[in-house]
Amino acid sequence: MTTMRETAGLDTAVAALDAARSVTIVCHVQPDADTIGSGLALALVLHGRGVAVQVSFAEPAELPVSMRSLPGVRHLVAPAEVRAEVDLLVAVDCGSAGRLGALADRLAGAATTLVIDHHRSNTCFGAINVVDPAAESTTSLIARLLDAWGVPIDADVAHCLYAGLVTDTGSFRWVRPGTHELAERLLATGIDGAHIARTLMDTHPFGWLPMLSRVLGTAQLVPEVRGGVGLVYAFVRRDDIDDVRSEEIESVIDIVRTTAEAGIAAVFKQSRVVPDRWTVSLRSRDSGASAGDGVDVAEVATSLGGGGHRFAAGYTAHGAPEDLIGALLTALG
Ligand code: AMP
Ligand code: MN
Ligand code: MN
Repeated sequence: MTTMRETAGLDTAVAALDAARSVTIVCHVQPDADTIGSGLALALVLHGRGVAVQVSFAEPAELPVSMRSLPGVRHLVAPAEVRAEVDLLVAVDCGSAGRLGALADRLAGAATTLVIDHHRSNTCFGAINVVDPAAESTTSLIARLLDAWGVPIDADVAHCLYAGLVTDTGSFRWVRPGTHELAERLLATGIDGAHIARTLMDTHPFGWLPMLSRVLGTAQLVPEVRGGVGLVYAFVRRDDIDDVRSEEIESVIDIVRTTAEAGIAAVFKQSRVVPDRWTVSLRSRDSGASAGDGVDVAEVATSLGGGGHRFAAGYTAHGAPEDLIGALLTALG
């Protein structure tokens, strides 16, 4: 197993991509714009080079509406259509094999596997792993990979890369030196950054507003958690989400996490199909006393069977609301 956290190590990944005649790209379950943007960007490049490429994600059955205008969606196939055997399987934005969902079984049929990801909790489950927890998005790593490969970034590829960059940085809130430089490079190809951001993040049906009203009404503040860091949480119940999309459900945490009195935020999202199954979003913020002193929620989520980044993580839990919050409070200690 080769694990590379250095840009120089990209050469091994490039060699694997260069040699492959058939490639499967797997995005994570409940896909976001970073995993889909990474997958489609890579697919556009590979297709342009005459490689037989398929992109897929295990669930849900449909691509979120906000991502359907990304270039390259024609390379997406249903999980059942994903070839069993392939030269190379690439997992994008997946911290563990479990994030591939039912498509994890395709790892075995690939001659080689490449993991491209930026999760701190990454298990390096590929034969080749390009994992950089300092990268702001997986699409940033794809940009680095294309540079190492000597492949120019055209407007369609830039559109896909920008989609992951603008969403995973929270509209350029969580940035580092180089983030804006990449954004500038992508924008210089002529893509419409404002339109991409509005489509992905700032467009909701009217039903979002009454949904938010009900969900935010469940919010609770527990100031004493972690010696006074504080937890704020809310529940998104099945009955609240009849007429909204995943985009509206995923937006809730971005409101809840702004609570000044809490360093940790959690949103419990009930499954539409299995009522006692909940996916949980965790966020953490600095106290303001010193930068980077926020609680590591990737650690908390990992202890509960999930994973993620230091300031944004998640897991899946089963049970009644009281049990869920009880388990989280215990894990937070
Ligand atoms: P979310 O709250 O769904 O936006 O997830 C926040 C971060 O945690 C993302 O980077 C996810 O990839 C990661 N994450 C969420 N759920 C899980 C899970 N069940 N297992 C591993 N990582 C997760
Ligand atoms: Mn993701
Ligand atoms: Mn990501």
